[in-house]
Amino acid sequence: MPVRSQDVTARTIETQVAVIGSGPGGAEVAIQLARRGIRVTVLESGLDMFDPFANALNEAEYVGRRHRNADTPEQFQQYLPANYQGLNRVREFGGTGNTWTGKWRSFSAADVAPRAWVPHSGWPIDYGDLDAAYREVIAAYGLQLGADHPRDAALTRGARAFADAGFGVVEYFNQGKTYRSKDALLAAEGATLSILLDATAVRLTLDEAGTHLAEVTCKGRSGDELSVRCQHAVLATGGLETPRILLSNHHQRPTGLGNGHDLVGRFLQDHPKIQNAELTPGPLLRRHNRAVQLLRAPRRCLCLAPGEADRRKHELLDTAVFIKAKYQSVRDVLANRLKGEPIMIDGRKCWTRFNVTYASEQAPNPDSRITLSTTPDALGVPRMVVDWRFTDLDRRSFTQSAELLARRFRETGIGVIDYGHGETTELGESMDAAHHIGTTRMGAHPREGVVDVNCTLFEVPNLHIASSAVFPTGISYSPTMTIVALSRRLAGHIARRLAVVPTSGSMAAS
Ligand SMILES: Cc1cc2nc3c(=O)[nH]c(=O)nc-3n(C[C@H](O)[C@H](O)[C@H](O)COP(=O)(O)OP(=O)(O)OC[C@H]3O[C@@H](n4cnc5c(N)ncnc54)[C@H](O)[C@@H]3O)c2cc1C
Repeated sequence: MPVRSQDVTARTIETQVAVIGSGPGGAEVAIQLARRGIRVTVLESGLDMFDPFANALNEAEYVGRRHRNADTPEQFQQYLPANYQGLNRVREFGGTGNTWTGKWRSFSAADVAPRAWVPHSGWPIDYGDLDAAYREVIAAYGLQLGADHPRDAALTRGARAFADAGFGVVEYFNQGKTYRSKDALLAAEGATLSILLDATAVRLTLDEAGTHLAEVTCKGRSGDELSVRCQHAVLATGGLETPRILLSNHHQRPTGLGNGHDLVGRFLQDHPKIQNAELTPGPLLRRHNRAVQLLRAPRRCLCLAPGEADRRKHELLDTAVFIKAKYQSVRDVLANRLKGEPIMIDGRKCWTRFNVTYASEQAPNPDSRITLSTTPDALGVPRMVVDWRFTDLDRRSFTQSAELLARRFRETGIGVIDYGHGETTELGESMDAAHHIGTTRMGAHPREGVVDVNCTLFEVPNLHIASSAVFPTGISYSPTMTIVALSRRLAGHIARRLAVVPTSGSMAAS
């Protein structure tokens, strides 16, 4: 059972790897290391339930672009319990992963390649490495159906037809039961894996030489401190809290940890989206209706995008259009028929109205960023200021992609999009997707990134990051599968480093 930090008798403990955060990123690194016999301690700020104290530690000052927040819950996540509506991240055991809807989507080789029209694009990682990690994740999490599965066949036929009509077809996977990292951690807890709750990492201390991390100090809500001495530490605190922790640790390095080139907190990206435009299907979509219906999970799903030729010709960012059937229960169908009101399903079991959501990638922008506020939280850590910005490319690409898709939808028989619900294709009307990307980006060189291709800080070689904070760019949707894949890969990297026995009894990283 996880214990609260205040219930640990010793005020200093030792572990091989301290993993800070228990969301999908932290859980993956911790479990993979523990399975290799490495002693891991997970330090989680929250409790094993929704907790106002812990969630208040996440509060930030938002300037620039509007962002979802708990004051406007009616717009967001109405399927979630009221406490979670409007939150863009969750401080509790399992993290924001406790509320995610479980769309697993991988990046393609083209997604991580540099694009001439997108400044700061291109990942330094070898795609073969990333792909190998995806394959492991697909096998470990059961993210595929058998090729002969009937649901698979309908989707495959639809995907082919949409691709033939010139669209980019993007697939993602929904599991039968959405993965929750806290369940995985509880199952793995044991001799090599321990979990501390109410353990907010407030200070990272370097060794005497000032080169390696030596200790993580956690605070509980009572104010009691616990020191965790470790050979390696992993920040798995999400794309907003990770730069906050690095920036606020300026007691040994004046600009914060890993920030020698003023990159920490910059390049903040999300997935701006607009939703609830409606689509009336045309002949092509009616023929392949089953490919976009929300059939029972587990299932492969698809969304559409401008084709590669259009993307290059018009120099667009990555965009995805989710087409979701507007469902009605049998009772609603009967009631509407009696009242003479619209019925969303026709006699051939074909859905006749769909909701449409556009989501887009953003171009990396150094001025879109996290900085520190002068106001501290309840544990004395400076709050963050979130200045989320759009570039001209973001604005042009968003509107142009939406217009292009609407035109192609009409021309190819996918259907007609109706913006009669107050929706527009202007980026200014969009909302965030609670996907926080780029704030400690991966680079080939310290001047280009905070972490290297293994997600290790250039400037602190035993401090690592497991989060979408490391993504240089973020495609149009669903970062979590890539967080998990990179975290799995990071675990292998740390394990290899630990296998090199240090020459003295020092705590420095191997
Ligand atoms: C409603 C909703 C739906 C979503 N649906 C999808 C989806 O379908 N597909 C997709 O790919 N993504 C989705 N996401 C995004 C997804 O939830 C995140 O990408 C994912 O949770 C990130 O995992 P993580 O481990 O990096 O961070 P988190 O899950 O946020 O975990 C971070 C952990 O760090 C802890 N922490 C923070 N600061 C400290 C500290 N100082 N000390 C100790 N612990 C700390 C937090 O309490 C938390 O447990 C969704 C998000 C929301 C809000």
